[in-house]
Amino acid sequence: MPGRLEHKVAVITGAASGIGLESSILFALEGASVVMTDINAAALEKAEGLVKQKAPNAKVVSLKTDVSKEDEIKAAVDKAVAEWGRLDVMFNNAGIMHGDDDNALNTPEKIWDLTMQINVKGVWWGCKYAILAMRNNPTDESKGLHTGGSIINTASFVAVMGAATPQLAYTASKGAVLAMSRELAMVHAREGIRVNSICPGPLKTPLLMDFLNTAEKRDRRLVHLPMGRFGEAIEIAKGALFLASDDSSYMTGTDFLVEGGLTKSYVTPL
Ligand code: NAD
Repeated sequence: MPGRLEHKVAVITGAASGIGLESSILFALEGASVVMTDINAAALEKAEGLVKQKAPNAKVVSLKTDVSKEDEIKAAVDKAVAEWGRLDVMFNNAGIMHGDDDNALNTPEKIWDLTMQINVKGVWWGCKYAILAMRNNPTDESKGLHTGGSIINTASFVAVMGAATPQLAYTASKGAVLAMSRELAMVHAREGIRVNSICPGPLKTPLLMDFLNTAEKRDRRLVHLPMGRFGEAIEIAKGALFLASDDSSYMTGTDFLVEGGLTKSYVTPL
């Protein structure tokens, strides 16, 4: 049976860990050619090896890329086009949640700026170069390929609900991702370019677990989770696969929540 991303070419940012790594494995298993990118070169090399081990027939390359630098994102998109002649899926997934990010009074301006540079500008630039590449995608009906493509931007559940344990810059940055994605979806809808956000709930990945490093901090959150557990990166990767594939061909501009019901809860089961 052909994979759901057969013949498609994808770029994934933040691919060395968590959601990006699980998505790289899943996209490759579903037939995509994947450019894995990450700021952490050593982790990226290891991650590329893991993807090749799990999906031995897949076409996978990697490129050290800091999404806070416009020329590096452009280079990642250029690599996809140079290797495989097109870009069908851009997963702007890289993001940071800084330990010094706090409330309105305590967040240092440099942490605010750093967070916005990576989480917002990085996504903007990823969208910019993806749009330019997707406009030039050749059509090949025999392979189900066409101009346009699917852009997926990782936001967060905190973009749609408030938390009394604040990380103000992070929350504001993810709200910006939602608003930006929605608008880009409208601007480019008639070009066949779909733009959707994915909003993960709290996950068992280094990004959150490094921060929730005591049982007390974890319990403060777990009580609000209807399923009584944090999510897994693979559960978000499966949502991203749906948005990447033609299974979601009539979806654009959506805030796709994969959060275990968190945003719908009033009280949770005992
Ligand atoms: P993770 O820490 O496991 O992976 C993030 C990856 O991004 C790392 O490999 C890191 O090296 C890379 N990265 C960091 N800065 C970068 C930069 N400037 N350029 C390129 N790569 C960079 O985290 P994750 O949980 O998989 O997070 C992925 C995305 O999901 C982020 O945007 C995050 O905000 C979002 N998210 C995570 C959670 C959660 O609970 N983990 C919840 C909601 C949203």
